Amino acid sequence: MKLRIHRFLPVTNVEGPGKRACVWVQGCSRHCPGCAAQPTWNKDKGIEIDVRELAQKILNGPEVEGITFVGGEPFEQAEALSELALLLKRKNLSIVTFTGYSLEELQESTNDGIKDLISLTDILIDGPYLQERKDLSRPWVGSSNQRYHFLTDRYKHIKDNICETKNQIEIRMDSMGKILINGMGDFNAIKGLFEV
Ligand code: SF4
Repeated sequence: MKLRIHRFLPVTNVEGPGKRACVWVQGCSRHCPGCAAQPTWNKDKGIEIDVRELAQKILNGPEVEGITFVGGEPFEQAEALSELALLLKRKNLSIVTFTGYSLEELQESTNDGIKDLISLTDILIDGPYLQERKDLSRPWVGSSNQRYHFLTDRYKHIKDNICETKNQIEIRMDSMGKILINGMGDFNAIKGLFEV
């Protein structure tokens, strides 16, 4: 099965608990005002990758405790992501999934891929970015409406003290000299750092 992705990082420290691989999927039809991930909206952009190949790349890559799915909208490619999640979960990797939908909306769906992805996810972070509720005080999220759902016991040790984890960003430069930023922070302020 193929997955259309925007970006893949084999290891990051700022996209969920611990060291994680991270996949930004390509395609989101929600188009929330103020979304910082607009380059991920167009479902025809990005690159297609075979799910099994990606799973092998992750398992053969740097040591990580899990993977994070972010977007774009992960549940618009739920079938492919649930296949990837299953392959990784069999190797004891944890799954963190972001979504612009609410958990309740997703639970109403009869789509098998959506049901499978929910059942394989350890932490689901739901709700779209709402610019009028911008709040960077909690880890990994940008607005106060977004919720953390601990769907398994895997991360129950951080459930009651999650706000002790601070938002962080990582800045990388690719081989073409392009600056790549991930994590959560005030992206406009960050962009200003690179203006001359
Ligand atoms: S759901 Fe998420 S990725 Fe999609 S437009 Fe809204 S904030 Fe952006």
